[in-house]
Amino acid sequence: MDKFEELSKAIDFQGFKGKPSVEGGKILLHTCCAPCSSYVVFKLKYFYKMDITAYYYNPNIHPEEEYERRYSEMEKLAEFLDFKLIKGVYDKESWFKKTEKLKNEPEGGRRCYICYAIRLNETAKKAKELGFDYFTTTLTVSPHMKHHIINKIGKNFEKKYGIKFLEENFKKQNGYLYSVRISKYLKLYRQHYCGCLYSIPDNLILKRES
Ligand code: SF4
Repeated sequence: MDKFEELSKAIDFQGFKGKPSVEGGKILLHTCCAPCSSYVVFKLKYFYKMDITAYYYNPNIHPEEEYERRYSEMEKLAEFLDFKLIKGVYDKESWFKKTEKLKNEPEGGRRCYICYAIRLNETAKKAKELGFDYFTTTLTVSPHMKHHIINKIGKNFEKKYGIKFLEENFKKQNGYLYSVRISKYLKLYRQHYCGCLYSIPDNLILKRES
């Protein structure tokens, strides 16, 4: 049984619908974590038939121990689904500087738009530098993330760097549900907060301190 059959069976996959907007090519996939990447990689690989390299660029993730934990789960997934993985620079000071004034914004607000842009800007730049055909992100698989904003930001960087952005909404057609099922099947660690210091729930901070 190959990986596609194995996973399809494990998650009771009902098949992809429609035709891909593009097929084949090398893509640099901005990845936020392994659970979100699981279904996105599955779709890019078996629907879009792309050659995938994931780019773990997330200076927003706090604290560093969490950042490393999420990265090591990515390594597990990359080994299972056989794709390449690049670890970006953890330039958290720069991230804090750019978002500090918006620390009191609610999750999903303006601070998040800057956070999406920081990560997509770096991904587009890297994709151009390394000669990829496309770039995209795992972010749209989450029901908490606004795909229309993320796609708009991606299209802006497409223009800025002259590299195609694969516009998607990976949560559609049960994408999020399948990502949860793949993560369970592969026993991937799933975090309890989005990533930045401002998104850590009080009860988790208390737990860490006690
Ligand atoms: S809540 Fe998530 S998307 Fe928003 S700023 Fe924090 S890490 Fe970024």
